[in-house]
This record gives sequence, structure tokens and C-alpha cells, in this order.
Amino acid sequence: MNSKTENKKGYNAVIGLEIHAQLSTKSKMFCSCSTSFGKKQNTNICPVCSGQPGALPSINSRAVEYAVRAALAFNCKINNKNIFARKNYFYPDLPKGYQISQYEEPLAINGWVEIGFKDGSKKKIGITRLHMEEDAGKNTHNVNESLVDLNRSGIPLIEIVSEPDMRTPEEAVAYFKKLKTVLEYLEVCDCNMEEGNLRCDINVSIRKNEHEKFGTKVEIKNLNSFRFVEKALYYEIERQTKMLENNEKIIQETRLFDSSSGITRSMRKKEEAHDYRYFPEPDLLPLILNESFIQKEKDSMPELPDKKCERFMEKYLLSFYDADVLTSDKDISKYYEDLVSYIKEPKVCSNWMQAEVMRTLNEQRIGIKDFKLDHKKLGDLIRSVISGDINQNTAKEVFNEMITGGASAGEIIDKKGLKQISDLTAIEKIIDEVISESMAQVQQYRDGKTAVMGFLVGLVMKKSKGKANPAVVNELLKKKLT
Ligand code: ADP
Ligand code: ZN
Ligand code: MG
Repeated sequence: MNSKTENKKGYNAVIGLEIHAQLSTKSKMFCSCSTSFGKKQNTNICPVCSGQPGALPSINSRAVEYAVRAALAFNCKINNKNIFARKNYFYPDLPKGYQISQYEEPLAINGWVEIGFKDGSKKKIGITRLHMEEDAGKNTHNVNESLVDLNRSGIPLIEIVSEPDMRTPEEAVAYFKKLKTVLEYLEVCDCNMEEGNLRCDINVSIRKNEHEKFGTKVEIKNLNSFRFVEKALYYEIERQTKMLENNEKIIQETRLFDSSSGITRSMRKKEEAHDYRYFPEPDLLPLILNESFIQKEKDSMPELPDKKCERFMEKYLLSFYDADVLTSDKDISKYYEDLVSYIKEPKVCSNWMQAEVMRTLNEQRIGIKDFKLDHKKLGDLIRSVISGDINQNTAKEVFNEMITGGASAGEIIDKKGLKQISDLTAIEKIIDEVISESMAQVQQYRDGKTAVMGFLVGLVMKKSKGKANPAVVNELLKKKLT
């Protein structure tokens, strides 16, 4: 479990998330317009998705497949009978005056996902429902004008509503990350948060005691990064704590997070909340999903992150922490397995992945698909450490050179003469020099101050310009001193 669930004033948070994920279908939910991102405004539109009178929607079966796959992966119960419903509200980016969504009979209910913590403990977060709907268009507000782009209008979405099961901002982020990982494994959502195709509304309340009933919740809309989710939650928990400490009442409202100042601001109070007047969509028949359709989706499921993590722990003898890191990104897990099958040594490969490779990906802000070294190039470098040609420190230098220049590990090692000296006579010669130049320390060692060994090894390494094989140096030096 996460260690701290209580803040300084003794309040606990209760958090529930509503996540919207755009499905990565080629065409929209109810028409055949393209979903591609970044096109000229209002070019991917037709009478259906621009809300022309009389235009009729028809359901994109690929979107239904993707949504079912997600529902299965989140352990939901799938409803065989699905009803689409009109969610009525006015907004300039919604020309029909309603959004087609699902209300009373959604695609799926009662699921869960598991989140894990560094210490290996796990927690299940309940999923209340998962339903299908269409996205709205996008407004851009300039100084003297507001522009409406309907390219996004009608793109298929799934909304995943969690139970109020999270207790800390860290748990909320872990849950959101886990959902993203699973959706990526399923290849049903691009999960590009900057482009807004995965976004999150958070609901948060606080209370003094875990046995009290939940406090009044506040909703914070439309967060599109993990960092913002965490920041908004910390801010909001503090704000609510201060209010209760001042004997003020929390009011149910919707707030917006301002990422530049890091604070939340009220957008509308409960009294101003929309009454969406949901009713069944008269232009669409109920969508019936038979068991064979659901079974077909079940059979085509890939290995999911939890299963892969377990397999990595068993097959490669990794800790939960290592396996979890390596499986939290599908492409990284694939790269890792390729690397292991190329050079064996799963633990060594795991260390390289987590230290050098993932650090580089972070620094360069890229995914492993754009990483300069394929698994064979990196594998050749790791192999030269295992074979004793170079030591770990030299390998890091070579690695840095490989990711900037284009040369292979072997070429860099040869060109710079980095090959480790494992040749006994060469090392012995250096050791003899060091001993004759450091008689005082040698005497100390012989008088029982064995800690001075490190100092002498250091001198030998320095004289060899870091190229002596440290294991050989240690062994030989010890022999000479005693
Ligand atoms: P609404 O009627 O406002 O849509 P719901 O009960 O449907 O509220 O819940 C919406 C989201 O808010 C869900 O993710 C749920 O887990 C979360 N939630 C509900 N009550 C609370 C609460 N008291 N504190 C924090 N989150 C809550
Ligand atoms: Zn269209
Ligand atoms: Mg609700």
C-alpha cells in the first residue's frame, strides 16, 4: 500500500476518475469521415457529424470491437443489449444539440484493474462502467472571435468511470497510467495525451476518518497529463482541507485546473449543472452483442501487462519492480525480450534497460521505437562487458558515444583503444610499480589496515587509464600484498 494516505491536518482523500479515450479507428463513430488528427479545420466532416437535419447515424462496428476489447481487458461484465442515448446540451462545438452516448444500458459494468506499488503490494480499483459515445468538436477562442472545428466531432470515445476507490494522488496517477498501458497493449487508443486523445476528469472529496461517509466531491475537468492530475489533486486536497479547517462548507461544483498557475478555479456550481435529459436515441436500434462476437474478441486478446509482468518474474527471475517497469510499456517489453533472447542474461539486460536506455528515452523525450540503437547494437555492447573486453564504466562511455554518433560498440572500443587489460603480465607490471611507489600504504595494509586496498586498486586503475580488469587487479594485488 501507499504509505501516506493522510495529510498533515489528518484528512484522507477519496478519489474517482472518469477517463475518456478516443478509439483509434480510421473512421468516426456514426459516419465514415476520417478521424485523422491535425487536418485543416472542418475538412473531415459530413452531414452526420456536422449535425445536418435529417442525417442518420450508423454504428461503426470496428469501434464496437475496440470498446468490447477494452471492457474485457478491464474485467467488466459486457451487456448483450446496448442502448445509445441522447445527452442534450447546447455548446457551439455540438451542432446537433446533443451527444450520442450511453446512459441506462451501457456497454459494460463492474470491472476492475490492479495497480502495483514499488514494495510489490497491489490494490484493485473498481470500474463502475465503460460506455461508448462520440466526441464533440473543438472551439478555439481568439481575442475577437471564437472558431469551431468539427473534425473531432463524432470521433469514437469510450468513457471509463472508476469507483471512488483511490485514496492518494499517487494511486490516482498509478490507476490512470495502468489504464493507458492496457489501452496501448490492446492497440485500441493512440493514448497521445498531448493531442488529447486520452484525457481525464477527477473527482475528489476529503474526510477525517476512513469510517465516515464520503464528503462532498468536487470535479476537475479535462486533464491531459499525469503530472497535472497529481498537481491538481494535491492542490484540491489542500484547498478543501483549508475550507473544512475554517468551518466552511465544500460545495459540489466543477472546477478547472490552470496548469500555468497550478491552481483550480470554479467553472460551475451544482445548481448550474446541466440536466442532460437523456433519452434513447431514436435513430439507432438497440445494439445486440451476441456471445460469439464477445468470445471472438476474447480469443483475439494479446497478453496483457499483468500477465506479462508475472511471466517476466517467473521466466527471467526479475523482481516485481523490475518486471513492472519493463512491462508498463508494450514496446519496451518487446525490446527487452528481443535483447534477452539475443544475449541471455535477463538481469543484466534489465539493468541496462532501466538505467541507460530508459534514462536516454526520458532525456530525448522519445519512445523506444525511435531509440537510436536496436536490440542487437545494444546487445553487442553488453556482450563486450560480459566477455570482459571492457568494464562497466567504459561501457557507459561507449554507450553515450553510440547514441550520439553512428559507430558500433566494437568500432568505438577499437578506435579508442578501450579494450580492457586482462593480460596478467601487463597488470602485474603496473601493480609492481604502484607497490614500489606506495610503500607506506603497503605497510599499512600489512599491519592489518586492509581498507587501504581500495586506495591501491584505485592507483592501479588510474595508471592503466581505467582499462585494467578490476577483478584481475583485485585478485593479483591481494596476492602480492600478502
Ligand atoms: P455524478 O452523479 O456527479 O456523475 P457519480 O456518482 O456518477 O457522480 O460519480 C462520478 C465519479 O465521481 C466516479 O468516478 C465516482 O467514483 C466519483 N465519486 C463519487 N462520489 C465521490 C466522492 N464522494 N468523492 C470522490 N469521488 C467520488
Ligand atoms: Zn462525418
Ligand atoms: Mg455519473
